[in-house]
Amino acid sequence: MPGNVVRFIAGSTLVLTAACGGTTAAETGKPVVDAAFFPLQWLAEKVGGADVTVEGLTKPGVEPHDLELTPQQVAGVAKASLVVYVKGVQPAVDEAVAQHAADRGFDAATAVPKIDAPHDEHAGEEEEHGHEELVYDPHIWLDPSRMATLATALGGRLAEVDPAHEAAYKERAKKTAAELGDLDFKMATGLMRCANRTIVTAHTAFGYLANRYKLDQVGIGGIDPDAEPSPARLAEAARIAKEEKVTTIFTEELVSPKVAEVLASEVGAKTAVLNPLESPPQGGDYISGMTANLTALRTALGCQ
Ligand SMILES: [Zn+2]
Repeated sequence: MPGNVVRFIAGSTLVLTAACGGTTAAETGKPVVDAAFFPLQWLAEKVGGADVTVEGLTKPGVEPHDLELTPQQVAGVAKASLVVYVKGVQPAVDEAVAQHAADRGFDAATAVPKIDAPHDEHAGEEEEHGHEELVYDPHIWLDPSRMATLATALGGRLAEVDPAHEAAYKERAKKTAAELGDLDFKMATGLMRCANRTIVTAHTAFGYLANRYKLDQVGIGGIDPDAEPSPARLAEAARIAKEEKVTTIFTEELVSPKVAEVLASEVGAKTAVLNPLESPPQGGDYISGMTANLTALRTALGCQ
């Protein structure tokens, strides 16, 4: 049948075009998901699987809070099928979504219960830069149980965008939520019996982790890691660290460890890395990054 041959050839051409890749759904034949930064990109890839094209807006190794978008990225946001972001982390992304993708933005913070932004009575106006109107802490991804809730919500949202693959999105969402549930259990049991429950961190990113596993976070800087802590804040952190017999001051790879090192030497503690996972851990993913955080916490806090 000559008709069938023609259809077969036309079908092959379509497949070849799709394999070349592209940045719009029309080019790839798949929804294009723009993910604002690492944990959201990881989640979009897990839940979207081969049914979507995921584009990350923040390059690995770049501190995402001060991300500026290129004109091409803004154009990408305008064309994306879905933009996954957390309002309050990156003002440039918030603005691009509001202006160009208001109906296609998925603010992950709307899918989970939020906790208040850490309050620092010593913070000057400069320290609050970029976060003036933020009343909640945006670092929701540092609690695996909230990430599990988010996986399910993202599966539902992708099914709305691309109903033909609803079952696949929901199946992958369920599997991802189960993996995150296992991680949550591991962290809860690993942090249950510890000599100390106070964590002193350079960047106040671990509010949700502390909340979930009943730890007390003392943030030296603000929720924006570039903010310089005031001398009063630093003195307060040193006082608490001594009082609570803290052995370790936590720092992170993408931010200068100077402030944490000064504090550590002042109170006789050492420093260790606690990764806020705003960028992918070297050679790892969200699960392995959180597992490394669990190991660092168990050592610093003397957990059994
Ligand atoms: Zn942060």
